[in-house]
Amino acid sequence: MSFRRAPNPNRNHPLHCPWCAGEDLLPNTEDDFAWLCRDCTRVFSVRYHGQDAPARRPAPALSTSAAIQLSLSRRGHLNDPAVSPAGPTATGDLPGAVREENARLVEKHADELYDAPADVILAWAREHVPGRLAVTLSMENTVLAELAARHTPDADLLFLDTGYHFEETLAVARDVDRRYPQTLVTATPTLTRAEQDAAYGPGLYRRDPAACCRMRKVEPLAVHLTPYAGWVTGLRRADGPTRAHAPALSLDATGRLKISPLVTWSLVDTEAFIADHDLIRHPLTTQGYPSIGCATCTLPVADGEDPRAGRWAGQNKTECGLHS
Ligand code: SF4
Repeated sequence: MSFRRAPNPNRNHPLHCPWCAGEDLLPNTEDDFAWLCRDCTRVFSVRYHGQDAPARRPAPALSTSAAIQLSLSRRGHLNDPAVSPAGPTATGDLPGAVREENARLVEKHADELYDAPADVILAWAREHVPGRLAVTLSMENTVLAELAARHTPDADLLFLDTGYHFEETLAVARDVDRRYPQTLVTATPTLTRAEQDAAYGPGLYRRDPAACCRMRKVEPLAVHLTPYAGWVTGLRRADGPTRAHAPALSLDATGRLKISPLVTWSLVDTEAFIADHDLIRHPLTTQGYPSIGCATCTLPVADGEDPRAGRWAGQNKTECGLHS
């Protein structure tokens, strides 16, 4: 794809790599002003801070990704982020009898399970769910994997690999696969990161995180839930105001059972269980990351801060859409 940018008085492109003087430079998505030197493979940033004479100071420069996005979209080269790539995006239909049974189970048991302990909720799930069960794991911690191995050993473990995870998260997923006998299913988005950049422009997670989460989380999970009558989540009411009244048992939009055995747990309860059972630990949870999502959208938080304050920090977004 080739395109020409309109002249931008605020942006000067570097002519040489400051390390090796190489001239083969390409914009890079590491940050908004990053460049890759293809001679020495270093990535560096060049940032324009303005001029010394306020009267002549131009408007702030566009970031690299914003400039590319603007240029491509003006020329009609980019897909509309509201339109997902071709391929399945939704969960397949449940058989009518399973759907009816799920609705009946929620009607009858949701109240009694609302504040029940995790082992009681999972034992209930093993006895009642009218079909296969998936236990979704974010790998932020491995409590659900441990509980599932004890109480719902026939359930599959389901991990959503968005392509943007911390390397530490992927390492935890590999360790879980080695430690627990259950099948670990890995759900991936339709597009790789490179394919998404080419189709929608680089840095979609910054420009339109709702679209990015829809394509890389919500839709892949929906598609991979098709074989299951119910799914287990790690939702905790203590995770923040948006989850303060999360039920332990409910129906999702497709009529599947959504079971959250940890709803009553606090961060302290979770830590105690991890220590008592010597579980696999995500190393970033001891480095200021109590809630871990994609590396591009997760920052550490201060002591005492809302545990999810580091998720999409600075953006008007608090949930990825998996639990709405
Ligand atoms: S958390 Fe960020 S990178 Fe991950 S899917 Fe959502 S917007 Fe994209």
